[in-house]
Amino acid sequence: MDKSAYIVAAYIRLSNDDGDFNDIKAESESVSNQRTLIKKYIKENTELCNSQYLEFIDDGYSGLNFDRPQFKKMMECAKEGSIDCIVVKDLSRFGRNHIEAGNYLEYIFPFLGIRFISINDNFDSKYAESAANIEIGFKNIMHEYYSINMGKNIKAAKEIMHKKGLYMCTYPPYGYKRSKENKYKIEIDEDSAKIVRKIFNMRISGMTYTEIAKRLNQENIPSPKVHLNMKVYNEFKNSFWNLGNVSSIVKNEVYIGNMVYHKSENIKAARGIKSVRCTPIVKENTHEAIIEKEIFYCANSIRKKSYKKRSSIVKHYLFSGKLKCKVCSHNYAVKTGKTIYYFCKSRRYLSDLECFEKYIKEDDIIRCVLDEFNKLVEKNEIKRKILNSAKKNKTDHKKIITSTEAKVERLKTKKFDLFEKYAAQTLTSEEYTKRNAEFDERIQKFENELARLRQDYKKYDHDSSSLFDEYKNIKNIDRETIDKLIDIIIVDSEGNLEIKWKF
Ligand SMILES: [Zn+2]
Repeated sequence: MDKSAYIVAAYIRLSNDDGDFNDIKAESESVSNQRTLIKKYIKENTELCNSQYLEFIDDGYSGLNFDRPQFKKMMECAKEGSIDCIVVKDLSRFGRNHIEAGNYLEYIFPFLGIRFISINDNFDSKYAESAANIEIGFKNIMHEYYSINMGKNIKAAKEIMHKKGLYMCTYPPYGYKRSKENKYKIEIDEDSAKIVRKIFNMRISGMTYTEIAKRLNQENIPSPKVHLNMKVYNEFKNSFWNLGNVSSIVKNEVYIGNMVYHKSENIKAARGIKSVRCTPIVKENTHEAIIEKEIFYCANSIRKKSYKKRSSIVKHYLFSGKLKCKVCSHNYAVKTGKTIYYFCKSRRYLSDLECFEKYIKEDDIIRCVLDEFNKLVEKNEIKRKILNSAKKNKTDHKKIITSTEAKVERLKTKKFDLFEKYAAQTLTSEEYTKRNAEFDERIQKFENELARLRQDYKKYDHDSSSLFDEYKNIKNIDRETIDKLIDIIIVDSEGNLEIKWKF
């Protein structure tokens, strides 16, 4: 081996366990394909085209660990200094355990002076300026993880990103935009940052969140959602500033240059996945601040004072989350006291909205729901359902009659047998009279029962509507019933209720 020549190692891995789901993919990952791609790359690269070529192939090994014979052999060569550069098709061929893979890329290879190239990720350690570039290079592996092994590994990857102060969120926070140079970094978006500063100034001047929201709406400043202009949110046609979005800006440390993450964690619960609150981890000075720390803390000390007045008890009222404003698409709020009311809060923030301005009594909603329900009972689906159940009851009733009739028949047969025995003189007169009386009594009992059953049965024919009474007379409606029956109740600008039933 010519020691002076540059030696390039192609690392090829073929696996049947980690994501080679279909034939097309399997083919693109085949040994010959990986080899062709790597050789083509080397040939076209002026720095590499004259180098010596070595190949390490692990066929049938998982990428989830580095316990692979050819990989180990390649690392031995790397330690000996007999290779200079490693080329792979993409990072997932190198390894799917990105923590371990990251360890090689960030520490081991640089330490050994090995250049590492991942063709499909456009990654070349010689030209990677910072560690962040390596993280970007991991995007493919991470994307695959999202689909294959979402969970622990992606969480660990996120943690690595967070520790480096890299943003992984789908949308940058209001006031910021994604950096063009590095999509995991954020920078100030002057248009919205201006509004953030304005909000903080209003807050330290003593304005409440509601007052701030109202002012911003009056000045026609687009809310964060409108600002994002996200298709995702198009159901909020009238998204505007409110207590919620103003207060979350004032509370967000992102504006003093800190990154706050790990606010919640998904844990397995009895029914699916549950999100639980965690103690957030704060990483300071990850990006440029919009607000000075002094102003930030001042604005938030105001928050604490006024916040204490509010009760933190969240009660689930009869219609909470069930009433929606047709005008602004927001859920109705609850006003509690002796009488419970529901109302659309939006007019507090934007007075020219045409939301119904009055408070709606809970009792009125209950009455409306019951009236509507009973109207439905008379005509449609519910009636059909009830009739079906009535039909079933009728059938069951008929079965009881038939079986009772059979019992009477059997008794009559036995009574006749008894008479025959008496006629054949195998039974004394005394005995016959006694047992015959017993039969008569039992037959009489069943015949009385039959008469009653037959009487009741007639009711099914001309009185089935009486069964509706049970439904008609619902007087007390509880949250459980509401959840069962009602999808949502829409309130229009006149205060009319439109109930969307679940059936
Ligand atoms: Zn409204």
